[in-house]
Amino acid sequence: MAVPGKGLIDGLKVTAKTLSRRSVTEQYPDVQPELPPRSRGVIALMEENCTSCMLCARECPSWCIYIDSHTETAPSVGEQARERSRNVLDRFAIDFSLCMYCGICIEACPFDALFWSPEFEYAETDLRNLTHEKDRLRDWMWTVPAPQPIDPGPSVIEPIDPGPRSARPGDAGPGDAGPGDAARVDEPRSDG
Ligand code: SF4
Ligand code: SF4
Repeated sequence: MAVPGKGLIDGLKVTAKTLSRRSVTEQYPDVQPELPPRSRGVIALMEENCTSCMLCARECPSWCIYIDSHTETAPSVGEQARERSRNVLDRFAIDFSLCMYCGICIEACPFDALFWSPEFEYAETDLRNLTHEKDRLRDWMWTVPAPQPIDPGPSVIEPIDPGPRSARPGDAGPGDAGPGDAARVDEPRSDG
């Protein structure tokens, strides 16, 4: 049977407990949150590195990368040389209303043209405005943190003791029985 006033007493207990705790409210946007440097905020494009190879667009599971390019031909540099051609990027856009921040495009890019930026203040009131073009993506490159220092690794590399030669696997001669041979000999034949 429910005790009258029990709910009120329970509520007051919670209030009293919470009163003694420190507030954890973050006063955003007056105070910026302290994010880890490798936060996945937005994808930045180093346009100069992009060769329009389309690998990122093909690998993107959400199909939210749009790339347009054309080929330009440069004159040959010598009599025997052929003309050179190169791709010129016309459009590179990411629809962040579809992006799921998996990072596959960044992993797939073979030319280091895509990076994570911790920038996260790009909310829009209309979903259609979340498709950002290459100029905006290039601007976000300024917010990409510097790469972490390379792990120096161990200062002394200890040689591995391979053990006595006869104990190493694969050393048995052609006539020697292997570890599974005894079991194979003892198995009863199924064909009677
Ligand atoms: S993070 Fe994932 S979903 Fe977003 S653009 Fe890259 S591959 Fe596509
Ligand atoms: S960003 Fe990288 S993977 Fe995508 S088109 Fe440019 S070079 Fe290719």
